Amino acid sequence: MTDTSTLEHAAPAATAIVDHWVGGAAWAGGSDRTGDVYNPALGAVQREVRFATAGDVDHAVEVASDAFASWRDVSIAKRQQVMFAFREIVNARKDELAQILTSEHGKVLADAHGEIARGLEVVEFACGLGQLTKGAYSENASSGIDVYTLRQPLGVVGIISPFNFPAMVPMWFFSIAIAAGNAVVLKPSEKDPSAANWMAAALAEAGLPDGVFNVVHGDKVAVDALLEHPDVRSISFVGSTPIARYVYETGTRAGKRVQALGGAKNHMLVLPDADLDLAADAAVNAGFGSAGERCMAISVVLAVDTIADALVGKIAERMATLRTGDGTRGCDMGPLITGAHRDKVAGYVDVAAGDGATVVVDGRGIDVDGDPNGFWVGPTLLDQVPTTSAAYREEIFGPVLSVVRIEGYEDGLELINSGAFGNGTAIFTNDGGAARRFQREVEVGMIGINVPIPVPVAYHSFGGWKASLFGDAKAYGPHGFEFFTAEKAITSRWLDPSHGGINLGFPQHT
Ligand code: NAD
Repeated sequence: MTDTSTLEHAAPAATAIVDHWVGGAAWAGGSDRTGDVYNPALGAVQREVRFATAGDVDHAVEVASDAFASWRDVSIAKRQQVMFAFREIVNARKDELAQILTSEHGKVLADAHGEIARGLEVVEFACGLGQLTKGAYSENASSGIDVYTLRQPLGVVGIISPFNFPAMVPMWFFSIAIAAGNAVVLKPSEKDPSAANWMAAALAEAGLPDGVFNVVHGDKVAVDALLEHPDVRSISFVGSTPIARYVYETGTRAGKRVQALGGAKNHMLVLPDADLDLAADAAVNAGFGSAGERCMAISVVLAVDTIADALVGKIAERMATLRTGDGTRGCDMGPLITGAHRDKVAGYVDVAAGDGATVVVDGRGIDVDGDPNGFWVGPTLLDQVPTTSAAYREEIFGPVLSVVRIEGYEDGLELINSGAFGNGTAIFTNDGGAARRFQREVEVGMIGINVPIPVPVAYHSFGGWKASLFGDAKAYGPHGFEFFTAEKAITSRWLDPSHGGINLGFPQHT
């Protein structure tokens, strides 16, 4: 049934330039500007990516608008079939996609597979679009009058995604947007752009009509063009907080529906009655998985004084077993995304030490199982980090786990709630009452109870509070279908002569 040539075409060759994908095919656009795409494990440029002009974005939006005109009329059953077919293709060829993720992002292959699996979960959820786009019907709301609602697609929707999940985050949005009948223009991160083209080819193979899913690559120029374009109805953004705020403000000013997910600083509160081995495992997994480049990474452990020494010891013990290196070699942790980011992350270790923190495990300059030119920082553990330090207050987005010692629950809660971000958090305890208090009192969007990375399953929605989410719609789940559809309420009366007559008063129900 499937023609493999399209996907092979999309899988980037060593010297390839990554084109845009518009109207069902690779497209060069009109710009001379390009960006470097690195293999972070080698520290070397492996290909270039095109940077779109505003005119390129206009073209993609026009193609999407034309495609939308017929896609919105395609039946629910047929749209479901396309989503099912896409799911089958990705599942069958996930090794190919994982290789692309590892080569451009650096995350280890096992983690790349985890990313794909969590993205596919949302594709599977989107397959249930028949149930999720249903309206409601009230018969005889007034005598002889029925009122009902229906949900319709918005039109052309824009998606702007970050480097750290080049497959999963686009899937969070485009699967629901497409299933709901919209046409998409995706602007992926310029740092690891190839996964988007691979998925575009897979969607085409799944039977999605040309032009319903388009990819424009680039930087701020492309983002601004999407934000300002009058035919783009909504923007779904994921990235750092300053850009999320900018995207939210600019997009809403241009009259669009915007959801903009931002950065994070996720705390894990460990109470004295917790299982310390479980807590130490969780801190290491959630602190160093994907080299800490996850918005749901744990970056701060709040340890109650009485167990802090024991917990730090257990975490350090486990860190000694981690192998950092090339993601294709079965290592636990890969490199950071760029040389500049590596230097920034390493700089925070200096800052913390200068502010009085103890560097328990120093990942700078570690031996790696990989090319010495890769962008390496090994797992790093800081203890007694002052809460005034930038290393505590700011998002580091690297493999640096800070321990802050606290007196007890109240202290920990206050620290979490006084932070700028509210993405994820976790409590480790065997006291159900404490856990229940925590879920009521903590001002964070996603909470784990003895679970370190509480990314909700696809049929709930994903999103934080405060500086971690601008707008009121979270990603995927029920929020996803609401975001990508507009509701109409219809009040209808079929002719009944007894209800005729002139009445200029405001309609009342009889
Ligand atoms: P980023 O903000 O640098 O980039 C995100 C997107 O915005 C990219 O497509 C990029 O090209 C574009 N962009 C960058 N600078 C821009 C500018 N000045 N104007 C317009 N567009 C611009 O983020 P990143 O470094 O790719 O990703 C890491 C960040 O994303 C972290 O802060 C992380 O916490 C956050 N993140 C959040 C979530 C979440 O769900 N809350 C999920 C993943 C990542």
